[in-house]
Amino acid sequence: MADIIKVEHLSYVYNPGLPTAVTALDDVSFTVEEGDFVGIIGATGSGKSTLITHMNGLNKPTSGKIYIDGRDLWADPEKIRDFRFLTGLVFQYPEYQLFEETCYKDIAFGPKNMGLDEAEVDRRVHEAADFVGLDPALLERSPFELSGGQKRRVAVAGVMAMKPRILVLDEPAAGLDPEGRDDILSEVKEYHKKTGTTVLLVSHSMEDIAKYANRVLVMSNKKIAMYDTVEKVFARAPELLGLGLSVPQVTKIFLKLREMGVDYLYLNPIFEAHSNHRYNTADYLNVDPLLGTNEDFETLCKEAAKYGIGIVLDGVFSHTGSDSRYFNREGRYGEGGAYRDPNSPYRSWYDFDPKHEGGYRSWWGFETLPEVNEETPSFVEFITGEGGVIDTWLRRGAAGFRLDVADELPDDFIEKIRAAVKRGRINPLSPLPLAPKPQGAI
Ligand code: ADP
Ligand code: MG
Repeated sequence: MADIIKVEHLSYVYNPGLPTAVTALDDVSFTVEEGDFVGIIGATGSGKSTLITHMNGLNKPTSGKIYIDGRDLWADPEKIRDFRFLTGLVFQYPEYQLFEETCYKDIAFGPKNMGLDEAEVDRRVHEAADFVGLDPALLERSPFELSGGQKRRVAVAGVMAMKPRILVLDEPAAGLDPEGRDDILSEVKEYHKKTGTTVLLVSHSMEDIAKYANRVLVMSNKKIAMYDTVEKVFARAPELLGLGLSVPQVTKIFLKLREMGVDYLYLNPIFEAHSNHRYNTADYLNVDPLLGTNEDFETLCKEAAKYGIGIVLDGVFSHTGSDSRYFNREGRYGEGGAYRDPNSPYRSWYDFDPKHEGGYRSWWGFETLPEVNEETPSFVEFITGEGGVIDTWLRRGAAGFRLDVADELPDDFIEKIRAAVKRGRINPLSPLPLAPKPQGAI
């Protein structure tokens, strides 16, 4: 893709020639590809705000060049206005710049200035309000009646409504409560995803940058210290810490594990189950809510993979819980299930026979742990078939399985599990490339 921003040897001095002269940018060069989401981070005073005010010509380089969409920004100072629409700049605390009597007028200010007709302006105001999650009922209200977070949204919408090719935001979450922060940043991310607009986001939170950006530009002492993908920059955690910057908590943990020589993390059963040992599986396809969500698991696998660490799972396939969506003795999962419904698709998984205590075969006679017949084709298919349990977890990012209760499984079922793992690990949908097989994992 083409570079939408190209900065060459940019330097900037405030108050040049005066005793108060300050060099704020020193020989900065970088490019941004169209559609990128770049996080800009650095200590206070490192030059972040000065850098971004150059992107739409608010500051003129003391030396060096800036090209936006291939055009030299300062080639013709008369045309600088064009760049104000090409690069939309949201300042820090932008709500202080609201001034119109209604939110609608504030958001419409930019598009009107661009000379758009009223219908187009109206369309854009509503679209932008929608992007930032602003209730349309608030459009006719004065911005001064709104909460801090809502005012901030109006200010951001005003810039979005100009449909800039590049959206630049200087600490858009500063001063908001944690919920407000997440909201506004997710809205920006959503906007980026939907419109493909290039985004430059200044933030002092590594967690935010990790969550939203795909590239990071690290400023230090008026220069670029690093500029790379999020993964590559975070892998240089010791240097970041040396620059006085933090790294996300999860990065710290995986770096530490890596340092300790850990290649694989083996998780005891994590599938939904209604007791803490979790050997009484209730649902093979979902993470127990006590531990998190399926998305959390995917995130964990993705993060771990960045440090070359694989996540290996356990699964208990010799029995399920009686309190499961398959057996459902306790009725938690409605009317169906093998115990309640003789026509249940799960009925054949279990051995119902009055000779057993409780009327069914169970593990060591524990009635809460009905044994599964591992030769039942529908069970084998459910666990090891295409799109089955093994496949699902590998696609979510698991690196393999290590079964604690393997001794109770028939050999050919184990063979089928092994085949499913091997097939899944080379499945293109599986995010983790083939890693060396961990000891003891199948
Ligand atoms: P950041 O946004 O990373 O905190 P800035 O770009 O605001 O950094 O500041 C970079 C340097 O420029 C700092 O040394 C700061 O004191 C100086 N600076 C910023 N704005 C001005 C200004 N208006 N006049 C003089 N110096 C300034
Ligand atoms: Mg700043």
